[in-house]
Amino acid sequence: MTTGTVAVGTAASSSGATGPTGLDAHLAAVALPPRAERAERAEATADRLRAAGVEAVAVTWVDNAGITRVKAVPLSGLVHTAQWGVGAAPCFDVFLADDTITTSPIIGGPTGDLRLYPDLDRAVPLAAQPGWAWAPGDRHTQAGAPHPGCQRLFARRMEAAAAARGLSLKAGIEVEWVVALAGAPQDEPQYPTHGPAYGMHRLTDLSDYLRDVLRALGEQGLAVLQIHPEYSPGQFEVSVAPEGPVGAADTSVLVRHTIRAVSARHGLRVSFAPVVEAGAVGNGGHLHLSLWRDGHNLGRGGSGPHGLTTEAEGFLAGVLGALPELLVLGCSSPAGYLRLVPSHWAGAYQCWGLENREAALRLVTGSTGERSAAANAEVKCFDASANPYLAVGAVLATGLVGLDQRLALPPEFIGDPVAAAPGTVPRLPASPAEALAAYERSAVLREALGEPLYQAVLAVRRAEAEQYAEATPEQVVAATRWRF
Ligand code: GLU
Ligand code: MG
Repeated sequence: MTTGTVAVGTAASSSGATGPTGLDAHLAAVALPPRAERAERAEATADRLRAAGVEAVAVTWVDNAGITRVKAVPLSGLVHTAQWGVGAAPCFDVFLADDTITTSPIIGGPTGDLRLYPDLDRAVPLAAQPGWAWAPGDRHTQAGAPHPGCQRLFARRMEAAAAARGLSLKAGIEVEWVVALAGAPQDEPQYPTHGPAYGMHRLTDLSDYLRDVLRALGEQGLAVLQIHPEYSPGQFEVSVAPEGPVGAADTSVLVRHTIRAVSARHGLRVSFAPVVEAGAVGNGGHLHLSLWRDGHNLGRGGSGPHGLTTEAEGFLAGVLGALPELLVLGCSSPAGYLRLVPSHWAGAYQCWGLENREAALRLVTGSTGERSAAANAEVKCFDASANPYLAVGAVLATGLVGLDQRLALPPEFIGDPVAAAPGTVPRLPASPAEALAAYERSAVLREALGEPLYQAVLAVRRAEAEQYAEATPEQVVAATRWRF
């Protein structure tokens, strides 16, 4: 196959990706509904948006470098877009975060086109961008088949793979960000907060801004759980209620762009980059997950550690064992490895522990009394340079394999891994190259992603690793600070 073309199924079937999470499985679950049905739903969506004063709809997808890209249509074009999609070139699958373009064995080159279809169920007026609405998009071929490189369709396929086992998941992605004064030079950020980490002082410094963030998120139908100042200057965190994995990935896109829009209105520049100042505590994108069957949280009531059921333990063991390769999808930018260091609560160690903020996999049981609802696991090593659809999809893929194989967790790590005897607790990869080596050994991810997406991710990560191979931490931070 030459570059510049996208074929569905060819490479995947030749790599045998037909297993329970392979590309050919669950394709039906992500097929486009009939065109007439899409048109009818788009009419209703357009009426709803028009009543809210919407004039244009931004349809987003997130590329393999973790950048949210967009095509927008006037509201009058929504019904047509729902029927026929809007053009989105396949070469976006091999864009890097700095907008240079690489290529991959299956996807790449200037030719070809795809159609981006808005998910009408998620279409919502944007509170901080009057006249605008947003909807996440899925990419299909011009012939109407699912694009094998579509990251959101990958996450949807993995959600369907869980559903095929009678399982559902609740997920939530914590959003951390840093604000700086928009008027200051980009390479010398000035932070609008003063006073101590997590201090009320910082909330008071920006109380109108934070109220407007909360108001905008609320008006968009998001249930905020909490918002607070974080450790680094100008740094904040917000968490919202859990939902299905694809919904949580959509929400993380919406939350970040809402924060960006509110920040602009307050004269602030915003960064979700893994690191904003070399050496400082960075921005995480922790992924919370709980596994459910028939209304029961499988993290409780079992005979495994801390009440985990066999299924939940197997799922978590699958994820824990795969963390080195999962970093390729959950900690995308080379800048992520500057954040993922010990003693930064970033989860730099491949271990698990109850409420352990240095463990990459933190078990959260919640308070006595609400544990059957609240128990969940947190993947701490991920950051917001990740494509959230790839991150949740890949965690599901590796978790389901662990569950199918009834893997057991290794012993819990209690305490600070930094203080443990050398070699006791494995460090996660400390560089993109190390994570890439693990990814290249991962048959599970290769099968689940399918060859076109697996190869496109590999090409993007390799190209970015090479770009920054000789760069100092300061150079990496300067190049990535305002990209995410
Ligand atoms: N900012 C830390 C990180 O980079 C996380 C702090 C926290 O535990 O919320 O992941
Ligand atoms: Mg935090």
